[in-house]
Amino acid sequence: MKPNNLTIYNTLSRNKETFRPLHEGLVGMYVCGPTVYGDGHLGHARPAITFDIVQRYLKHLGYKVRYVRNITDVGHLEHDADDGEDKIAKKARLEQLEPMEVVQYYLNRYHKAMDALNVLPPSIEPHASGHIIEQIEYIKKILDSGYAYVSDGSVYFDVPKFNRDYGYGKLSGRNIDELLATTRDLDGQSEKHNPADFALWKKAAPEHIMHWPSPWSEGFPGWHLECSTMSEKYLGSHFDIHGGGMDLKFPHHDCEIAQSVAHNGEPTVRYWMHNNMITINGKKMGKSLGNFITLDEFFTGSHPLLTQAYSPMTIRFFILQAHYRGTVDFSNEALQGAEKALGRMLDAYRRLRDLKPGADTPVHDIAAIERRCYEALDDDFNTPMVIAALFDACRIINMIKDGNAAASQADIDALRSLMDTFMVEILGIVPDVTAAAEADGGQSVKPFEDAVDLLLEIRAGAKRNKDWATSDLIRNRLSEIGFDVKDTKDGWEWSLKK
Ligand SMILES: [Zn+2]
Repeated sequence: MKPNNLTIYNTLSRNKETFRPLHEGLVGMYVCGPTVYGDGHLGHARPAITFDIVQRYLKHLGYKVRYVRNITDVGHLEHDADDGEDKIAKKARLEQLEPMEVVQYYLNRYHKAMDALNVLPPSIEPHASGHIIEQIEYIKKILDSGYAYVSDGSVYFDVPKFNRDYGYGKLSGRNIDELLATTRDLDGQSEKHNPADFALWKKAAPEHIMHWPSPWSEGFPGWHLECSTMSEKYLGSHFDIHGGGMDLKFPHHDCEIAQSVAHNGEPTVRYWMHNNMITINGKKMGKSLGNFITLDEFFTGSHPLLTQAYSPMTIRFFILQAHYRGTVDFSNEALQGAEKALGRMLDAYRRLRDLKPGADTPVHDIAAIERRCYEALDDDFNTPMVIAALFDACRIINMIKDGNAAASQADIDALRSLMDTFMVEILGIVPDVTAAAEADGGQSVKPFEDAVDLLLEIRAGAKRNKDWATSDLIRNRLSEIGFDVKDTKDGWEWSLKK
């Protein structure tokens, strides 16, 4: 284990706190994942990348991390409300698919986008629909503790009662008295004792296609319940970090806290972390605003607001250039800036490969840059400060490569270790061949093409020497990797298999 000076901003205490896990050497982290009824967009990339950094850094420090990120595939109703159609059921109806076909389709696409962004997978990815029994048991216990009531086959959480005993809305800081006094009694919510109460279980209307038997009705769980239930199932009744986007603080996370406290008698989460939102040209992103850009559209440039395609690595770098609690505003100019900066960093990383030492003793204080990187990460995962420190390292690399500074082998080794640790391992920034090729018109692919030619040159030499084994080996391996190799009268031709 490395010495741990990590501080985390806890949304609940509104303070940076020293991170001390509940169990020595182990960290349990739960992050609210996507509701899989549409393609991932920039707003999905930010929490995924934010908590990817948390996961990567904790692992780097030597912790064993159990990272749980749920998949919401039932119970998330339109407008995050207790009434209205289930988001997935609606999509299934419109596209004439089984709800689970919708879930699988968008989940596969979500995973693909996350892979492209180099977001490491969580340790467990539980589905709400796979934990109906656990959710029913959870509701029973809240009913037993007296903080919920059954009404016409549905079960509602008793917000005023909980508020009197424990205080409701502490995370978001909502004024609950105001909320209780001003919320109107809406149509169809008359079975609630108070309009602020929220559903733990909803009786399914006859046309509702996703429903399960329960002691109260044929129905489905409320959206907030899955996270309380599944976090406790996989991380226990006390765990270290709960994360999500800032938009989830209310009602989702305040409801989760209420459920867990009603269920266990005390709070479950030690550190609440929330990433800020992404705006597009200064405006909130929304389907109705016409500025809703999916990740695939970013990767292909196929949205009217985009002047070009942006590689997944550019998107990742763009997001990491801001602290996760700061706002990020997308514009083409900002992304082009990120693309250029990323290009400079990756160029320096490539040049690092063949630096030659010209001094016997260390010339550069790389350890100071390393300290800055650790200090930045320990300060609530301050990735923009890490990037700034790495650019200082890049400047030194370029000076050495251009012959404007000497360096010892120790300097070069330290630079390599620094860039591999902080750029590749922790920030997850890796060279992206296809992206680079698009950005510079194919120039950066040249070395890879040259490498294939080199192999075929060796093969030609082997053939001249009647070394058929080597010649066949090279040809067969290239074919397996995905190249078509043709012998021509004056040499060879190769292409990528279609
Ligand atoms: Zn959640």
